[in-house]
Amino acid sequence: MQEIKIGLEVHVQLNTESKLFCSCPTSQAEPNRNVCDVCLGFPGTKPVLNEKAIELALKIGYALDCRINKKFLFSRKTYFYPDLSKNFQITQLETPVSSGGKLNIKDNKIRIRRVHLEEDPAKIIREEDHVLLDYNRSGIPLVEIVTEPDLKSPREARIFLQKLQQILEFIYVGDFSKEGGIRVDANISMTKYESKYGYEEGLVEEKKGGVRVEIKNISGAKEVEKALNYEMLRQKNLLEVKRETRLWNEKTKITISAREKEEEDEYGYIFEPDLPVIELSDKILNEIQSNLPELPESKKRRFLKYKISPEIIDTLLTEPELTHYFEYLCETHNEKASAVLLAKYLKRTLNYHNLKLKDVDIDVRHLRRIIDLLQKYLITDDVAEIIIREMVGDHVKGKKVREPEQVLRDLKYEKPLEEERIRKFVLDVVRENTKAVKDYKIGKKESFDYLIGQVMKKTGRRASAKRIKELLKREVG
Ligand code: ADP
Ligand code: MG
Ligand code: ZN
Repeated sequence: MQEIKIGLEVHVQLNTESKLFCSCPTSQAEPNRNVCDVCLGFPGTKPVLNEKAIELALKIGYALDCRINKKFLFSRKTYFYPDLSKNFQITQLETPVSSGGKLNIKDNKIRIRRVHLEEDPAKIIREEDHVLLDYNRSGIPLVEIVTEPDLKSPREARIFLQKLQQILEFIYVGDFSKEGGIRVDANISMTKYESKYGYEEGLVEEKKGGVRVEIKNISGAKEVEKALNYEMLRQKNLLEVKRETRLWNEKTKITISAREKEEEDEYGYIFEPDLPVIELSDKILNEIQSNLPELPESKKRRFLKYKISPEIIDTLLTEPELTHYFEYLCETHNEKASAVLLAKYLKRTLNYHNLKLKDVDIDVRHLRRIIDLLQKYLITDDVAEIIIREMVGDHVKGKKVREPEQVLRDLKYEKPLEEERIRKFVLDVVRENTKAVKDYKIGKKESFDYLIGQVMKKTGRRASAKRIKELLKREVG
């Protein structure tokens, strides 16, 4: 028997326009371009705090049900390493922006210990016989989210991270398509219980181990699961586990020892004298809290009230924009038709091109027209998907996205037959297939499908199966 404890430290780059303590941009650039005296740590320079970063950190605090610290300050964590040209990192120790939150994973409540702000160190690029340093990353605002060791398996750690990332996406605090947008340290300890034969007590269980190992700098939820699985296997085969920090190698899929675990006082934390104590007014806090976007879980609860399958709802919830579009479409159209158009046809096409809806210029009005065409039986589901493929294709080719009607004209699409004509075809088929009609009436369901097929043939596949079915039902009962 064994007990596993896992705790995570999640570093999230906040999507501010400028860095945490200077006005350098956070955008992509050639290495070492987005730098200045402050983020390179030149002597005599002083940090100026970016308010936007505080706002985003508070949003995270609220989204994770934390207590907000209305008054907080920053600290210097001193260490020597090439990614840290100042020789200290400005972070928070005693007073994180917020603490004491939670995130539920099914029945397991994962406690959030703290959410604090800090600056990102530079990026180290390891080459064969040397390292390169990119200080563009130095000073990018980070939020570190630390859980209590409440996770019980590598799988649960992955699910937690996916859920956390989804929440962060829905409150618009980070960009996770960026490399390094989210980085995780995973802590794991395994308590083993071994059976032993005691001289007086007989067979007893002895508790062994429970030493915490930290795996640093893992790049995503799936990698965290793999790293922890590897680590469990490694520890199972050890007589004694050392308390240490290890590194996960994504290529070889193993962890290697990096250093003995350091203790807090080795960093010689001191309060940051160049920054003031921050005091937040109730007005600001109320504003941030009341403007917090709706969280995915609450959206899901609302969407489940419509008669839409949970799978389709989960697909909508993979991106905030999909849910926004869904709500816009629902204002004018049937919920199910709207959800299917977005979660199936649009999402499938976006996935194919590795795109997000937010990156593509597709107007809600265009989607409304596609649903209109569908509901008037002017196009079939297949054609709806083709229109969407063409529209997304326009975006991929760097062209202006066409309107649905234009796509149809360009495809030389022939309008389907008018309802009256479809009905005539139905009557023709009924007349010509008396045996099949009779079979259907005495209960042979296949005969009905056969009749639909016959009508379809006659219409040159331009009428939808659904419409034919309705008309045919009306004729044969
Ligand atoms: P640091 O790693 O900087 O020393 P902490 O002591 O605050 O910081 O712990 C960091 C992480 O380690 C937290 O996510 C916490 O849940 C986790 N942790 C603490 N004790 C254990 C344990 N026995 N097993 C697994 N994880 C643990
Ligand atoms: Mg740590
Ligand atoms: Zn700078």
